Amino acid sequence: MSETITRKLMLYFPKCECEKPIIYHLVKDYDLIVNIFRAKVTPEEEGYLVLDVTGTEEQIQASIDFVKTFNVTVNFSGKGVTRDNDRCTHCGYCVPYCPTDALIITNGATREVIYNEDECIECLACVRVCPFGACTAAF
Ligand code: SF4
Ligand code: SF4
Repeated sequence: MSETITRKLMLYFPKCECEKPIIYHLVKDYDLIVNIFRAKVTPEEEGYLVLDVTGTEEQIQASIDFVKTFNVTVNFSGKGVTRDNDRCTHCGYCVPYCPTDALIITNGATREVIYNEDECIECLACVRVCPFGACTAAF
C-alpha cells in the first residue's frame, strides 16, 4: 500500500469557478483528508484557498489533475516573491488582494505596509497589482 503524505497547496479560482464544489470532490472522489486553513475572495471576486491535503501521492496527483480541469491554478508554496522596500511607497493598494496576512498595514501614524514572507503563498496577486513594481517573483 502506498505511503500517506501531506502536501500544502494553494488554489487560485478565477471569478467564474468560485462556486464549484471542488473541495467536496477532493474528499469524496479522491478520498483525501483536506484541512483548509486560509480562504479569501478578493475585491475582484477571485478566490484563494490554502489547504493541506493528506493521501497517497497517486490520490493527490489525480486530485490536482482534476482541479486543473476547472481552470483553477495550483501552486506549491516555495517562497519566490520578494518586495523591494526602496520601491514600495506603502500605498496599501496590494493589501486587500493578499489572501494571507503576508501584507498588512500597521496601525499608528506611520501606516507602513509590512511584508511577512513567512505568510506568503506566492499567489502573485501583489505582483500583478502593485503600481510601482515593488513586488516581484523570482520565477
Ligand atoms: S501596492 Fe506596491 S507600493 Fe503599494 S504598498 Fe503594496 S507593495 Fe508597496
Ligand atoms: S504573493 Fe503577494 S499577495 Fe500573494 S500571498 Fe504573497 S504577498 Fe500576498
